[in-house]
Amino acid sequence: MGSFGILRRASQSQRSNTKQLPSLFFSLLFSRSISQLSSQSQWPSFGIAFDIDGVVLREDTPIGGSPQALRRLYDDSGGGFRESKRAFQLSELLGVNILSSQVLQGHSPFKQLVDRYENEFIVAVGKGEPAAVMFEYGFKNVLSIDEYASFFEDIDPLAKYKKWTSKLAANQSSTFNKITQTKSLYSQRVQAAFVVSDSVDWSRDIQVLCDILRTGGLPGREIGNQPPLYFAHDDLKYQATFPSERFGMGAFRIALESIFNRIHPNALEYTSFGKPNSFVFRNAETVLKQLLSSLDHKLHVDHAIDESHFKTVYMVGDNPTVDIKGARQAGHPWFSILTRTGVFKGKENDADFPADLVVDTVEEVVDYILRKERIS
Ligand SMILES: [Mg+2]
Repeated sequence: MGSFGILRRASQSQRSNTKQLPSLFFSLLFSRSISQLSSQSQWPSFGIAFDIDGVVLREDTPIGGSPQALRRLYDDSGGGFRESKRAFQLSELLGVNILSSQVLQGHSPFKQLVDRYENEFIVAVGKGEPAAVMFEYGFKNVLSIDEYASFFEDIDPLAKYKKWTSKLAANQSSTFNKITQTKSLYSQRVQAAFVVSDSVDWSRDIQVLCDILRTGGLPGREIGNQPPLYFAHDDLKYQATFPSERFGMGAFRIALESIFNRIHPNALEYTSFGKPNSFVFRNAETVLKQLLSSLDHKLHVDHAIDESHFKTVYMVGDNPTVDIKGARQAGHPWFSILTRTGVFKGKENDADFPADLVVDTVEEVVDYILRKERIS
């Protein structure tokens, strides 16, 4: 499987191409994440988790007065940390120094599966560079579904009508020629599929995923046991730049599941990570605690904090069914705050998953928290 190293280098050069397409490029590291801003040394008893899309940013545009609001929350306490692209870009957009350790990405929980799939052949789906993300997490034998599908001639009968895919294939042809020479991929079983970010080409991805999933990982062969399927999250919709919400990964999952269940005797089995799963919120608490203790260490402050308890952790989100539902399920010490800058636009509270507080913007959120914690 030495050829995978070559693939990763190819994707490095592809990275420079995607830079001209900011939404594609950024979305890989950005989509529907939580970032944590830890409390500073003066106020160690609470933490805040901000959903990004629809609260702090709409695509790449700061919303709801977020730069000013976040600047009020904390000063530059970083330095010496390796910043991820996401953290760097957030810092640029918002004018505050956000560390990579403060950003939780939707697909971060996939790291927990490295032990199981480190050397297994897996396929990664989604916009941007899903295989590069998985490779960086430690999955050694991963191909993007673009790369994988291109090995199978005629797997997508509509490909010739998709000008963007033929352009992509042309960019990658030298790497692809090297790998197709080995022919090994046709007989190599896909052991699992990971949906890392939003699918760009639903028709091709649903087709190829169904091929993989119904044949036990060998497209074109007879029906077999379904390999495991993982989704980074299950958001039905999200607020982008267009006035009404756009379909998210949850919508893609429904489409895939509906079709798979019509063509396969057993219903689709899958695992969705991301909000509102309670482990996301537990993990966010852990990250906040780690951040707090690293800040204390840097500032040579020795707080007598019981590490296992924040008095309050605020969840700031725009989507009742993921952000608020998740915070409510997580229970103490979570306090949910719903903004009207994204999916939720109601006058009162959400009927199904009411938040502890509803405000218009993230600026009002910061006002509220600083007042409540008596810091302003
Ligand atoms: Mg959101």
